[in-house]
Amino acid sequence: MRTPVLAANWKMHKTVAEATAFTTAFLPLVADVDDAAIVLAPPFTALAAVAGACRGSRVATAAQNVHWEPRGAFTGEVSLDMVRDAGASHVIIGHSERRHLFGEDDGAVNRKTRAVLADGLTPIVCIGETLAEREADETAAVLDRQIDGGLAGLTPDEVGSIIIAYEPVWAIGTGRTATPDQAQEAHAHVRRRVAALAGRAAADRCRLLYGGSVKPANAGDLSAQPDVDGALVGGASLDPQSFAEIVASGRPR
Ligand code: PEP
Repeated sequence: MRTPVLAANWKMHKTVAEATAFTTAFLPLVADVDDAAIVLAPPFTALAAVAGACRGSRVATAAQNVHWEPRGAFTGEVSLDMVRDAGASHVIIGHSERRHLFGEDDGAVNRKTRAVLADGLTPIVCIGETLAEREADETAAVLDRQIDGGLAGLTPDEVGSIIIAYEPVWAIGTGRTATPDQAQEAHAHVRRRVAALAGRAAADRCRLLYGGSVKPANAGDLSAQPDVDGALVGGASLDPQSFAEIVASGRPR
């Protein structure tokens, strides 16, 4: 059985004080959760504070991005050493905002994914189609291209260990969620493609999260789909009570 993952992507929200206040309020709400993995992805500036506050709990932390090079003249970038030093165990890679606002392509996603794995951290690789691509019936082709490009060169064991977040771009931050059937259809497709790339065993191990306007009210129905192994949550993860409710809905039944 795959352990579900509930991950909070705070994007460019929360100062150190706000992130610490969230964590202090949130940890008691999920203290009894031992059947799902919980990951908080604060902005870089609050990563060490949140990781420190989570020490001794089962809650892990993620960076929202990383550079693939270990060091050098890359102004504004953050390395894996820095991210690990801050306490993160996971890294979000290729979020649609990175792809669409900052020009990140599948080649960059691949370099980052390989670097994160080589460093022993867990990548959360984001994929998903735009509204125009869905309406042009290109969803499967887009997902295939992102999977093949982003995961190129990974061993089956590595593929089995990563987390993939299917996040239809038209559902991110829009309040428009994929229906449970749409999510399941896309996730089943992703799992088939991962199996074609790395074998059935790797595809069966790989956790596939749904992301896109997940809220306490819809998290249960989405998580109940057989190929949905949890959620990557933006807006609704900014409030401790709301994210704790989503965690509760995503636990195995
Ligand atoms: C996200 O940031 O990955 C996301 C899915 O955002 P939201 O839940 O706000 O749509």
